[in-house]
Amino acid sequence: MPPDAAGHDMTEEERLILDSVDKFIAQDVRPHAHRLEAEDAYPQAIADKLAEMGMMGATIGQDYGGLGLSATTYTRIIERVSACWMSVSGIFNSHLIAAAAVERFGTEEQKQTWLPKMAAGEMRGGIALTEPDCGTDLQGVRTTARKDGNEYVLNGNKMWITNCLQGNFLAVLAKTDPETDPPHKGMSLILIEKDAGYRTSKLEKLGYKGIDTGEVVFEDIRVPRMNLIGPDEGRGLQQILSGLELGRINIAARGVGVARACLDDALAYALERKTFGKPIAQHQAIQLKLADMATRVEAARLLVENAARAYDTGERCDMEAGMAKLFASEAAIENSLEAMRIHGAYGYSKEYNVERYFRDAPLLAIGEGTNELQRIIIARQLAERAGG
Ligand SMILES: Cc1cc2nc3c(=O)[nH]c(=O)nc-3n(C[C@H](O)[C@H](O)[C@H](O)COP(=O)(O)OP(=O)(O)OC[C@H]3O[C@@H](n4cnc5c(N)ncnc54)[C@H](O)[C@@H]3O)c2cc1C
Repeated sequence: MPPDAAGHDMTEEERLILDSVDKFIAQDVRPHAHRLEAEDAYPQAIADKLAEMGMMGATIGQDYGGLGLSATTYTRIIERVSACWMSVSGIFNSHLIAAAAVERFGTEEQKQTWLPKMAAGEMRGGIALTEPDCGTDLQGVRTTARKDGNEYVLNGNKMWITNCLQGNFLAVLAKTDPETDPPHKGMSLILIEKDAGYRTSKLEKLGYKGIDTGEVVFEDIRVPRMNLIGPDEGRGLQQILSGLELGRINIAARGVGVARACLDDALAYALERKTFGKPIAQHQAIQLKLADMATRVEAARLLVENAARAYDTGERCDMEAGMAKLFASEAAIENSLEAMRIHGAYGYSKEYNVERYFRDAPLLAIGEGTNELQRIIIARQLAERAGG
C-alpha cells in the first residue's frame, strides 16, 4: 500500500480510482470550470461523466450497484474535485446522503427499487430539510405529510435545496404527526420523485455557482405509502441526522480541497510576482501567510482522515465529524482571504480563481449544520464522553 503525495496509505484499487478522478479533473473539469462558473451554467457534461465513472453510487454498496467506497476513499475524491471546482462535488454529495438514508434505514424492497437507479445516476437528487423559517432547528419543520388511504399527501415549502431543479427526486423531511411532542417523534423522511408534481424555482447565490439550489413547493403532492423511508413513521429526523455524519465529513473534505487550492495558487503567484527586486515569496510577511495556510491544510486533512476512519469502523463519530467540518471549513475561509491578499489587486479580479474560492468557501460554514452548531455538538460530546 504505497502512500500518496500527502503520505497517506492507499490500496491499489483506491490508487486506480483516484488516478481516474485526477484524469477526469484535468480533462473534463479544469478547462471548463472558469467559464461555467461565470455563466452559472449547470455542468451537464461533467454530471454525465460523473455518472459514467460510477460516482453517483460512490458510497452505495456493491450489492445495490454502487462502488461501495469507504468514507476514507470518498473524502479523497471530494478533496481532489473541490480543489478544482467545489460545485462539482455538489452534483453527487447530497444525492449520496439521500441514498445513505435509504441504504441504512429503508426496507429491502425500497433498497432494491431505488438504490440501483440512484447508483446509475438514473435517479438523481438530494435532501430537502431546510424551510423558509427553519434550518438549524429542524424540529420547527412545517411541511406535513398526511396519510390518506395508501398514500401520503404533502404540503409545505422547502428552501435552499441543492439539486432540486436538475435532479428528479428528493428525500423530504416532513411531519407525519404534527401534534406529537417532542416534535421529532412526529417527523418522517419521505422520498418524492419529481413526477409527483412538486414545483421548483432557482435561488441566486454568492458562490457555489453552476449547481442548482432552489425553493420547492409541495401542494397536495401524493406519493405511495411505500415512499416513507423505513417501516415506521416518526424516525425521519434520526435517519437524516445519521446521514449527516457522512455529509459533514464530506463538507470537511471540500474545505481541505478549497484550502489547498488557495495555497497552491497563492504559492505559485508568490514565486512569480516580484516587488522590490525579488519574488514576494521571499518577503517574510508573505512567508508567514504561506506557512499558516499550509499548516491549516495539513491539520484539516488529518482531521478529515480521522473522522472518515472512525466512520468506516462504524464508531460513533459525530464529534470527529463536527471537528473536521468546523476546522476545515474555517481553514478554507481563512486561506481564501489570505490567497486574495497575496494576489494583491489580481485577487480581486475575475481573471483569477481566488475570487471564486473566496465566494465558495463561506458556504462550508453554513451547510450540513452551521459551525455554531458544530461547536455545540462537540461540546455536548465532550461532556457525554466524560460521563457528564
Ligand atoms: C448554497 C446552499 C445550499 C444548501 N443546500 C441545502 C440542501 O440541499 N438541503 C437542505 O435541506 N438545506 C440546504 N441548505 C440550507 C442549510 O443547510 C441551512 O442554511 C443551514 O442548516 C442553516 O439554517 P438557516 O440558514 O435557516 O440558519 P438559522 O438556523 O436561522 O441560523 C441563523 C444563525 O443562528 C445560529 N444559530 C442557530 N441556532 C443556534 C443555537 N442554538 N446556538 C447558537 N447559534 C445558533 C446559526 O449558526 C446561524 O449563524 C443550503 C444552504 C445553502 C446556502
